[in-house]
Amino acid sequence: MRTIVAKFGGTSLSDAAQFKKVRDIIRSDPARRIIVASAPGKRFEEDLKVTDLLLKCYDMAGGHQDFEPVLADIRTRFTDIIRELKVDISIDPEIQALREHLKECPDKDYVLSRGEYLNSRILAKYLGFTFVDPAWCVFFDEYGKLDGRMTRRTMEASLRPLHNAVIAGFYGADINGHIHTMARGGSDVTGSLAASAIRAEVYENWTDVSGLLAADPHIVDSPKTIEYVSYRELRTLSYMGASVLNTDAVLPVSDLDIPINIRNTNRPQDPGSMIVRKLPRGEIKYPIIGVAGRSGMSVIQIEKVMVSDGAGFSAIVLDILKDRNLPFEHCLTGIDTITLIIRSDLLENCKDELLGEIREALAPDYLGLTEHLSVIAVIGEKDTESSDANIRVLWCLMQEGIPINTINQGAGKLNLLIGVPEDRYKDAVRAIYTAIDKQK
Ligand code: ASP
Repeated sequence: MRTIVAKFGGTSLSDAAQFKKVRDIIRSDPARRIIVASAPGKRFEEDLKVTDLLLKCYDMAGGHQDFEPVLADIRTRFTDIIRELKVDISIDPEIQALREHLKECPDKDYVLSRGEYLNSRILAKYLGFTFVDPAWCVFFDEYGKLDGRMTRRTMEASLRPLHNAVIAGFYGADINGHIHTMARGGSDVTGSLAASAIRAEVYENWTDVSGLLAADPHIVDSPKTIEYVSYRELRTLSYMGASVLNTDAVLPVSDLDIPINIRNTNRPQDPGSMIVRKLPRGEIKYPIIGVAGRSGMSVIQIEKVMVSDGAGFSAIVLDILKDRNLPFEHCLTGIDTITLIIRSDLLENCKDELLGEIREALAPDYLGLTEHLSVIAVIGEKDTESSDANIRVLWCLMQEGIPINTINQGAGKLNLLIGVPEDRYKDAVRAIYTAIDKQK
């Protein structure tokens, strides 16, 4: 029997109209048998997600404030859906249980988990599917850390016998039955664990965009959707700020080569983006799939003649950072030089001390700090030696007169990272996007 695990995010299940779209999507392919649901998300820009309303209730209860109006809003979000869809279910006992819980000594994770719990129960009833409470099959250890291995085993045992099911995302429980939530957006991870547990043919992640974009739409006009992206490329996209999918969701499925398909609930006709380990045969793959970047970076440049002939110079610099618990973004070494790229906000209160320490430890010939840098990632696993992609990218930056502060590409040829002045960041992204577009 074919199985697709389909996870629907908060915007896909924000109200009754969205529930209907979700039902139509599920019915259009009988392989969509295992559904993972988020709590109702925003219906419009200024709206609040149910999870945020629950958080508000929790904070108010802790501050001995009257949380009843917020609890009433939460109840209304669900009862509106139930009424409009004519689902035969009452959530009043659960709302009452939540009220009692909030009045005592409330547990944050338990409170936050109720959005997914209630929404999934309603969706299961609406679809005529079995409801699966992740408190029984998504395991956390005694330190509150998700136990992926145990979860996959228990999920397999729970889901395999079922013809179809709706499982709530975002939470699980420890051996004592205490509820634990994942990081925000964690339903993506639940979906991934479910897909790996039952070895689904694909893990569909339904959201409100038609996939990953090749560039930031705030900078580039109508950038293309990326058709295929490797797990490794996705990691770079996310690191650089693309937030379509929680990156923790990649590992469980990538181990088993299960593709992730990002789809749009509001435009189910769009094929979306496929996240895969390797591109299927015959599909065109361009050396560069997208461009993304981060501003607010600083560069520390250290130079000392003949230092490359000795050993341990870099280790001294890195030890200084480690002792200060100061992470760096990139570290480039050249002949007699070390260049560190560090987030400017982390340097704000310690840059003079740090430079002083480096000066004392290394007595460099030159030590400089440049601020207001952006790092741009030109993303693509360039596995063909002959690819001239990097040359074209650098050429177009030169033509636009954009100065290049740093260039970084490891032997793995995954990404080309380019440092440019912050005030030329957007121009650089646009220029690189134009170069990408010309690949096709
Ligand atoms: N409802 C949770 C959140 O708003 C989890 C999720 O949607 O995945 O973050």
